[in-house]
Amino acid sequence: MKSVFDFGLNDWELWCSERGLPRFSAKQIFQWIFQKGGKDPAQFTSLSLKIRQALAEEFNWKLLEIDSHLISRDESEKVLLRTADDLLIEMVIMPYDNRVTLCLSSQVGCKRGCTFCQTGRMGLKRNLTSGEILGQLLIANELLLPKDRTVTNVVFMGMGEPLDNYDEVVKACRIMLDENGFGLSSKRVTISTSGIVPRIAQLGRELPVRLAISLHSADNEKRSQMMPVNRLYNLEALKKVLIEYPAPHRLGITFEYVMIEGVNDRKEDARRLIEFLHGIKARVNLIPINHFPGVEMHPSSAKRLQDFQTELTNCSIPAPVRYSRGVDISGGCGQLAAKREGELHLDPRVLHRERRRSVLNVL
Ligand code: SF4
Repeated sequence: MKSVFDFGLNDWELWCSERGLPRFSAKQIFQWIFQKGGKDPAQFTSLSLKIRQALAEEFNWKLLEIDSHLISRDESEKVLLRTADDLLIEMVIMPYDNRVTLCLSSQVGCKRGCTFCQTGRMGLKRNLTSGEILGQLLIANELLLPKDRTVTNVVFMGMGEPLDNYDEVVKACRIMLDENGFGLSSKRVTISTSGIVPRIAQLGRELPVRLAISLHSADNEKRSQMMPVNRLYNLEALKKVLIEYPAPHRLGITFEYVMIEGVNDRKEDARRLIEFLHGIKARVNLIPINHFPGVEMHPSSAKRLQDFQTELTNCSIPAPVRYSRGVDISGGCGQLAAKREGELHLDPRVLHRERRRSVLNVL
């Protein structure tokens, strides 16, 4: 049975036309589901009884289930969600005074294997559907309801490489931006990528959202060691696509740069970065690496961070230092690996091997 959350406005228009229903019914159904967060068609009172019955009979209305919910000292919330086929994904809700940002997942795991990221150590299990991506937003809004708040910003910086799941991510984004869907501003939806060059070009042509690049080094050899994707799409190819990125979107490209002691934090690294960014209107977020089990990497010292930042700002490149939120609940940058409370200290490779083994034992 199809999930109702996988249907976009076009799908509803087709569904309605196949049943001889008026076109405006499609818009009403779409609004009930995404704008109003309705999960029970019996309550869709503006629709006829016949349509409500058809919706109840023909579709699966189950959203993702909450497996566990951790709240950080800084009020960020990490929510572990269970898919219908019993896989776990994570999202992080980050409330600020003037906005609420949702960091959501686009895949179960990731195949890109970046060395500083726990998700990369899980491997890829599968892509999420657009309904599972949007389900995270619906659940976040439900959790925020008692506080009278709602998600205002979405960043695709959770589990997965969003551009490896291009079609579903783009479909979900369109519903986020649709005034009859979530009605988010295109300036408030950010797709962050490790640098899947052909898809960046396609995204620039097709979707007006903000782009963030997970860069972390402007030296090909070093970047290839940290991010195997660089062997496929090197810095020259990445720069070319960013220079050609459509101007209105190019105005706001953000670069994420995780600061790792002795790896990518020397002045020479900063100078290479400045050279790489020449010709691109960029902002660089400097993120001291967050600790995670199984890997011996340490954040740069305060002095290194400051020296690196000064090199960039002296060349008029904004470079704020960003300390991750939710680090105490393993919800910071690079820390997501579908872990429950008692599992935060475990190496994701060991944890997921154990989970597979226990599933096989049950069978
Ligand atoms: S940083 Fe992103 S692309 Fe790299 S392994 Fe982690 S989730 Fe995948």
